[in-house]
Amino acid sequence: MCKTITILGGGPAGASAALAAMELGCGVMLIEKSKFPRHKVCGEFFSPEIEPDLARIGAWQAFLSAAPARIRRMKLNFGAAEKTASLAEPAWGLSRSAFDALLLQRAIAAGAKISRETTSVPQIIASGRKVAATARGGRLFGFKAHFEGPPDDAVELYFFGSAYVGINAVENGFTNVCGLAPEELLRTFDFDFDRVLLESPALAERVKPLTRRFDWLSTGPLEFKQHLSDTTAYRAGDALSFVDPFTGSGLVAAVKTGSLAGAAAARSDPVPDYLAQCRQSLRKPFEVAGVFRKALKSRFAETLAPLIPSRILFALTRPR
Ligand SMILES: Cc1cc2nc3c(=O)[nH]c(=O)nc-3n(C[C@H](O)[C@H](O)[C@H](O)COP(=O)(O)OP(=O)(O)OC[C@H]3O[C@@H](n4cnc5c(N)ncnc54)[C@H](O)[C@@H]3O)c2cc1C
Repeated sequence: MCKTITILGGGPAGASAALAAMELGCGVMLIEKSKFPRHKVCGEFFSPEIEPDLARIGAWQAFLSAAPARIRRMKLNFGAAEKTASLAEPAWGLSRSAFDALLLQRAIAAGAKISRETTSVPQIIASGRKVAATARGGRLFGFKAHFEGPPDDAVELYFFGSAYVGINAVENGFTNVCGLAPEELLRTFDFDFDRVLLESPALAERVKPLTRRFDWLSTGPLEFKQHLSDTTAYRAGDALSFVDPFTGSGLVAAVKTGSLAGAAAARSDPVPDYLAQCRQSLRKPFEVAGVFRKALKSRFAETLAPLIPSRILFALTRPR
């Protein structure tokens, strides 16, 4: 066995790092403060690229066994304009309570030790995104709930103002509704997310036949940020780079960078070499999402996005 690697955070990035490090013969100590399974604010959309990344760490069959929903179409609504397209390859919908628990279970089964408290300085930081220090007023918050009702095979994104709400099926016939909105809009509705959904007439119509299964969860303030020059530890997942969630690429990036970090730590690769690999993989979705968010803020997206073919928009936001 090479050595024991300490990983801070047992979410998708941390559990993937653990599996990759143990594959190379290392022991792993995972520090995770939460008890799994637990819900998490997330659109729970997995782009097709998740398959090779999960297969690499031996978790693809477990993912399929959780019976994720298949997502075959993409629908973008900009108020006046709507675009629908088939996905070139089907995507997946699986709750984070199921996904995070199955990955962590695999890591434990492979020999990872779990602790609630930090016992030594972590070599891998996979503790998720930092809470933004943005001043009140310009802050963004995320929210999510599961609904019952007729499922659909599309991932739907409703853009209104600089807010958006994503809808897609997850396992067991449930539907995830997850949004991101600026503080000013949410304050107008006293953070009553049911009322926020009514702000877009098309979205209000879409959720009419659905019944919410649990109280809304919310998170924030959110900040889209990269820490690609921190060479003090191997950062992975959102702790390395948090990209605008409309891209639906955060989970693929978490599994990918987590696996890279686990392998790099096991081999004692220099952190800058590891970061160079990540930079290549993450640059495209981060840059495209940045441009799109600026367009959204200026309301220019309503004019621009309908002109870009949906397949191209989808491809542009995938990590490599
Ligand atoms: C509104 C919203 C919607 C999203 N929708 C999608 C989507 O549809 N598809 C997609 O691919 N991505 C989506 N994302 C992004 C996705 O949720 C993240 O990219 C993903 O969670 C990153 O995984 P991670 O393991 O890096 O971090 P996390 O999932 O945040 O896991 C970090 C873990 O570290 C633990 N932890 C943190 N600090 C400590 C500590 N000090 N001690 C011990 N444990 C600690 C936490 O308990 C947690 O379990 C969305 C994000 C948001 C905010």
